[in-house]
Amino acid sequence: MSNASANASKKTDEVAIQLNGVHKWYGQFHVLKNINLNVQRGERIVICGPSGSGKSTLIRCINRLEEHQQGDIIVDNIELTGNLKNIDAIRREVGMCFQHFNLFPHLSVLENCTLAPIWVRKMPKKEAEEIAMHYLERVKIPDQAGKFPGQLSGGQQQRVAIARSLCMNPRIMLFDEPTSALDPEMIAEVLDTMIELAETGMTMLCVTHEMGFARKVADRVIFMDGGEIIEQNEPEEFFNNPQSERTQKFLSQIL
Ligand code: ADP
Ligand code: MG
Repeated sequence: MSNASANASKKTDEVAIQLNGVHKWYGQFHVLKNINLNVQRGERIVICGPSGSGKSTLIRCINRLEEHQQGDIIVDNIELTGNLKNIDAIRREVGMCFQHFNLFPHLSVLENCTLAPIWVRKMPKKEAEEIAMHYLERVKIPDQAGKFPGQLSGGQQQRVAIARSLCMNPRIMLFDEPTSALDPEMIAEVLDTMIELAETGMTMLCVTHEMGFARKVADRVIFMDGGEIIEQNEPEEFFNNPQSERTQKFLSQIL
């Protein structure tokens, strides 16, 4: 992690994501409890919290991989309801990277990146390949384009996954513990890619326990526990002066 200028906030006044009084249950289990959250365009948010606190569920609700039962979620002025047109429109705006890269093992790196642009966006193959190469260069692995995912290191595979998302030209990127399945020596290369993405002004919501990344890049750190947002603050305040006992306990365990 090198570039200190990532600290410069790209946050604007425009609201990119809005959650108002969001609740979700898995059967009887109340997994999200009254989540209220506004994300500004260009803002970088890090979400942390103990395992099982609802972090993945929260970000998966934002592109409707999970359905919320109460409250409103509005992304880029589009309300997320059962309306399939809206879901489709939101998914066009929102890219996502998971802990396990979910690349297609039987497709080359380049084909992984061009699949959705060609089949979902109806982009001509040549154009899709040019765009894919552009993003593979951005994540610094253009030389791996012809290989299959299984031939790449974990860090390289995660960078392919990021490039693949960027090929769909999202306005918002969601990350769910993108480095937690990686060996330590691979973590920095993926975080560097995310830092560079932050510098472009991308709106980012990242579930991660990489607190160095949070300090460097985040405009705001959110702590979740038991399905609730317990505390949120800019990184300096969040780390140096956590208010809630639960946040203090969590930080003492991971820092
Ligand atoms: P986190 O990402 O913070 O670890 P999750 O959002 O994955 O938390 O999960 C929150 C809680 O919801 C956990 O107790 C988990 O067991 C439960 N949970 C997650 N997914 C499901 C599901 N599909 N069905 C039932 N319970 C689930
Ligand atoms: Mg999770």
